[in-house]
Amino acid sequence: MNTNLFASRHIGVRPDELREMLDSIDAESIGQLIFETIPNDIQLDRELNLPPALNEYEFANHIQLLAQKNKIYKSYIGLGYHEAIVPAVIQRNVLENPGWYTAYTPYQAEIAQGRLEALLNFQTMISDLTQMELANASLLDEATAAAEAMSLLFAVRSKAKKKAKANKFFVSNEVLPQTLALLQTRSTPIDIEIVIGNHEEFDFSEGFFGALVQYPGKTGKVFDYENFTKKAIENEIKVAVGADIMSLVKLEAPGNWGVDVVYGTTQRFGIPLGYGGPHAAYFATKEDYKRNIPGRIIGVTRDLDGNRSLRMALQTREQHIKRDRATSNICTAQVLLAVMSSFYGVFHGPKGLQNIANQIHQKAVSLANELEKLGVYQENELYFDTISLKTDATKIEKIALQKEVNFYYPDQETVSISINETTSIEDINKIISIFAEALTIENKKLESLLPGIIETTNLSRKTEFLNHEVFNSFHSETALMRYIKKLERKDLALNHSMISLGSCTMKLNAASEMLPLSNPQWGNIHPYVPVNQAAGYHEMLSELEDYLTEITGFSATSLQPNSGAQGEYAGLMVIKAYHEANGNTHRNICLVPSSAHGTNPASAVMAGMKVVVVKATDKGNIDVDDLRSKAEKYSDNLAALMVTYPSTHGVFESSIKEITNLIHQHGGQVYMDGANMNAQVGLTSPGKIGADVCHLNLHKTFAIPHGGGGPGVGPICVAEQLVPFLPSNPLIKTGGENAISAISAAPWGSALVCLISYAYIRMLGAEGLKSSTEYAILNANYIKARLANYYPTLYSGERGRAAHEMIIDCRDFKKNGIEVKDIAKRLIDYGFHAPTVSFPVAGTMMIEPTESEGKAELDRFCDAMIAIREEIKECTKDQSENLLTNAPHTQAMLTKDEWSFPYSRKQAAYPLAFVEENKFWPSTRRVDEAYGDRNLMCTCAPIEDYITE
Ligand SMILES: *Cc1c(COP(=O)(O)O)cnc(C)c1O
Repeated sequence: MNTNLFASRHIGVRPDELREMLDSIDAESIGQLIFETIPNDIQLDRELNLPPALNEYEFANHIQLLAQKNKIYKSYIGLGYHEAIVPAVIQRNVLENPGWYTAYTPYQAEIAQGRLEALLNFQTMISDLTQMELANASLLDEATAAAEAMSLLFAVRSKAKKKAKANKFFVSNEVLPQTLALLQTRSTPIDIEIVIGNHEEFDFSEGFFGALVQYPGKTGKVFDYENFTKKAIENEIKVAVGADIMSLVKLEAPGNWGVDVVYGTTQRFGIPLGYGGPHAAYFATKEDYKRNIPGRIIGVTRDLDGNRSLRMALQTREQHIKRDRATSNICTAQVLLAVMSSFYGVFHGPKGLQNIANQIHQKAVSLANELEKLGVYQENELYFDTISLKTDATKIEKIALQKEVNFYYPDQETVSISINETTSIEDINKIISIFAEALTIENKKLESLLPGIIETTNLSRKTEFLNHEVFNSFHSETALMRYIKKLERKDLALNHSMISLGSCTMKLNAASEMLPLSNPQWGNIHPYVPVNQAAGYHEMLSELEDYLTEITGFSATSLQPNSGAQGEYAGLMVIKAYHEANGNTHRNICLVPSSAHGTNPASAVMAGMKVVVVKATDKGNIDVDDLRSKAEKYSDNLAALMVTYPSTHGVFESSIKEITNLIHQHGGQVYMDGANMNAQVGLTSPGKIGADVCHLNLHKTFAIPHGGGGPGVGPICVAEQLVPFLPSNPLIKTGGENAISAISAAPWGSALVCLISYAYIRMLGAEGLKSSTEYAILNANYIKARLANYYPTLYSGERGRAAHEMIIDCRDFKKNGIEVKDIAKRLIDYGFHAPTVSFPVAGTMMIEPTESEGKAELDRFCDAMIAIREEIKECTKDQSENLLTNAPHTQAMLTKDEWSFPYSRKQAAYPLAFVEENKFWPSTRRVDEAYGDRNLMCTCAPIEDYITE
């Protein structure tokens, strides 16, 4: 084994362990295992055509050279993106810390209290700043949040509006262009009509169910929407406000006017621009709409001992995403970025934020004043950070580019300038000098700042915010560093042990893949700079597109979608556009197997399709007879089949070619959900099985860390006939010739984290990628073999092999009074995160080890599972106190003076020898899910709750 190769660091199993592992699964070689796993008619007959693997050192040099091709200008473009300062203490302790970035979505609350607390802080911060009752823990981007607001308002429209069949949605012409594009994309398939106009002339007529306005407007003008909202309420029209989060520090909160939704981005709260993302959007609404809020909400509950603890509220809903009754398909969001923004709020606190916002505002005011002296007038009566100037924009642009400065030019007579946290007085003087040069006049230097102008108006913020202790306690670096560590210690991430969440592919997120993210030459680029300034990005992004196209066996790739589910939506919209271009507007039936992930039917509904469910056989495969009869029945209107391959049951179905052919015969297109791509790379491909489009989860297969539930990247790869329809962007040209409108705000989605997948592919090369897939399959089959005598595997392929994951059946233990979730909680005592619980089959666990785990860790996990199986034998229905139902066991309960359980403390805490060496202590006992949902509370408790003692 060449230890100089990255593959030997990425793949966990050592060469000397291979023989023993192969013996235990009864295979001669890896080749034989793969032969028995993947149907022969779909195996690739050639190596992937990819550049040769670079080792880690070579890659670091390569990516540094590429970074230098990006030109870092000062950007004052605004439009929802502002350069921000990432506090170093947050960069080092969160963004660069695997304890934070490798965690998963907090499904197991007892080992996720740290990130749950950070997210509760995020919600509290958003609720406070917007003055709304309920905020979620982040969405994909601001434009997506606006689209989610539109569909929420449609879902909660009044009875009268329903009766009147009101389907019009008013959108202010002050809205950000990318938001408008997304609203247009999302409204059409669900029959909402967008009407764009000046909100001051809006007539509030009967046909409208909702309205959306921007605060401040796209070129900085601040409007008072209080009267607008009042009239809207009188006319039963619901209102959403897109609000700039920094401006809310100084401007009165929209919640005080009685609006229904406030949304926006938290990018400028300490997140790098990253050429468009990832950043966390926020979404805040009324308590009344808690059942309709998209994404995740963190709620307060209690544990078995009655102590306060946190969990994802209304969690069952989140796992099923309401399938075809869904109004949203948000699953992966932007958790890591939300966590970073929440720490930004904690670090600065209300006073620090006021300082920052005041500086920004005063600089904007002072700049406007100086430019006025030069005879350049500013149009916004009231503004926070953005001024809009009437002047010769072409001339200004030329000089600005020479001086490495970017402004926004809405038209040839307008220059819009947004001031941000990083803007210094020197920068202001440079801006002034650009105008002076254009006008060929001398300018004086600005030396001190003028007072703000918001303070003199009735929109000046009077409502207090961030009074809670957590936002007033950690303002020194030492204090924040320790607070971050305190939370980190409560969470089990990949730097502690294997996380075998099936369908989630929790593989290594290598340090060498992550390092470039910290480089400002990747971080400090606004998504709407002229593309020639981002040459390094474009080289990297187009290479990555090509690699993914090659890996999937298709013709082209779009990196725009920010999650797998957003990729599903994008892919289905592309299919829809293709049918429409062929004159088949009536094709709207989407076949979805019963075992599909909840996002599949949800995405289909959002794309305006009708979901028809296809049955599964008792072996877990698609019931081909049922598929055939449904394809025939709906032949005239068939739009697509959505199929996950290998299936969510962890099996390579051998009839896949027959299935894809059948759909094509009936005029449909095949959408492949690529969540399980980790079982395909280098061995087979979506193109090979006859699919037409797939999304990839770069945050599963291609090494982007899960970040506690995001960021994600869900590119779509398409066959030739679909290439013309790949999505565009309103500001920067991307996508195909007949592109569908934008799927997400930024032209290349979350460009910054695409570096990770680029690194992954460059360092593994064709051979390393293929080996990774092979070892992923080997590891799953090894676990299957080791657990065979203890837990029945639910499904296997024709020759008895699992793919890269496998399902074990735990339903039989009910007779011992044990539920599958008890096993999940008991695994915590052994130091493991549970596999995926009850998906896709209730009462089962889906285990996916990935290629990054070595034999020793696989064995520890299997030993734990086997020991638990022995413990289950001792459990009976009428003995409610046992090792499993009491799990997880906390340090607090074990160190109490009294011990009344029918097993020893040692059995509880140190059931196997290896646990003693690497004990993970859960910070809370089992959380009470039902109590939390009954008493929904989604912000930090008010300060009074703490003073009572
Ligand atoms: C993870 C997953 C998705 C959704 O991807 P997100 O990035 O979370 O939106 C869809 N389908 C399957 C099978 C998955 O495992």
